[in-house]
Amino acid sequence: MILSFEDARRTVEDHAARLKPHARETVELLASLGRVLADPLTADRDFPPFPRSTRDGYAVRSADLVKVPATLTVVGEIKAGMPAGASPVNIGHSQAASIMTGAPAPVGSDAVVMVEYTSRIGDQVTVLQQVSGGENIVPAGAEAKQGDLLLPAGTRVEYAGIAIAASVGKIRLEVYSRPKVAILATGDEVVEVRHQPASNQIRNSNTYSLAAQVLLSGGEPVLLPIAPDEPARLRELIRAGLKSQLLLLSGGVSMGKYDLVEQMLQDLNAEFFFTGAKIQPGKPVVFGRVAAKYFFGLPGNPVSTMVTFELFARPVLEALAGMAPRKLIFLHARLKTEIKAKTGLKRFLPAQLSGEFDNAEVELARWQGSGDAAATARANCYVVIPPDREKIAAGEWVAVLPR
Ligand code: AMP
Ligand code: MG
Repeated sequence: MILSFEDARRTVEDHAARLKPHARETVELLASLGRVLADPLTADRDFPPFPRSTRDGYAVRSADLVKVPATLTVVGEIKAGMPAGASPVNIGHSQAASIMTGAPAPVGSDAVVMVEYTSRIGDQVTVLQQVSGGENIVPAGAEAKQGDLLLPAGTRVEYAGIAIAASVGKIRLEVYSRPKVAILATGDEVVEVRHQPASNQIRNSNTYSLAAQVLLSGGEPVLLPIAPDEPARLRELIRAGLKSQLLLLSGGVSMGKYDLVEQMLQDLNAEFFFTGAKIQPGKPVVFGRVAAKYFFGLPGNPVSTMVTFELFARPVLEALAGMAPRKLIFLHARLKTEIKAKTGLKRFLPAQLSGEFDNAEVELARWQGSGDAAATARANCYVVIPPDREKIAAGEWVAVLPR
């Protein structure tokens, strides 16, 4: 079953949507960075807890400024950190209080005039501009009322999430445990990194690039030994890998005589959802399940392995990590140099995104095909080329998948 890229992606998303994280744990505030919330973050009080001035200036009654310039009597000064509500200052008719950003607006005031629009002599302030009621004051509870949901469970904690957790007093947070993801590289020519490869051998880089991708997507990699292209040992290692919550295989899924991965999975009664996607690199990608355990058979070419992980394995891993599902979004940039491509497959080609400010430009990396991991390492994105485009001219907007 070879699916279009979009159908293959949706197939993965449909399965991912039904997955649940398996366990939770408690971590310290800063250790929650990159983790997934198992409990929602809710407001422990009103936000803001008092009507907060957003400017340095004067707290006033807007009704006193229907005609400007107007001169008001300054009856006090309110700094951030002064008690709200019970503030010593009370604004009456034709009165004002000097106020600082972040300070509670005093009783009687309904707006803050920016200091830039005032001039002060002694206890008299002349206001040059009108203000409307509520201007430059955020009412108590306007951002959130006590008990309101601030961040739902299933959110991955980024720096803004850390700010929310801190602001509601969470020194410890409940997050989902990282799912264990078994990684199994296959191939008679593949040797462990610490070994000096013979001229006919290749060091195992896929296990490590996949482990890195697993770590970045919130999983815990479980590194298995390299499987030879030999049925008994391969099957044994696949069985070991199926003990984890997700199994990622690399290599052995093409059409070669010794590409045994699919056969071995079949022997284990695997259900296959697709055995190829119309993409390049990565066409032979396999997605399926043995009993309740999902696996991906990723093509062994290093760039194919990386790309197919990002496109297909990541959503399943994120679901097991407890993340709410999200769609794949491509950004757009202007193509720097013309691209010629073969039609029929959707292409994800390593590229360099550059330019500055709102002038994003992208250019294909010079590469030798999907074995060229170094070209990918020097790139910072993939350009996405639709299957029906033979030529894309310089200056056209193209879709980009950032890395
Ligand atoms: P395969 O998908 O098994 O046909 O492998 C495709 C290409 O990727 C071959 O050139 C392999 O030598 C290479 N390859 C396979 N597995 C790995 C690996 N773990 N690390 C680096 N290269 C690999
Ligand atoms: Mg192989």
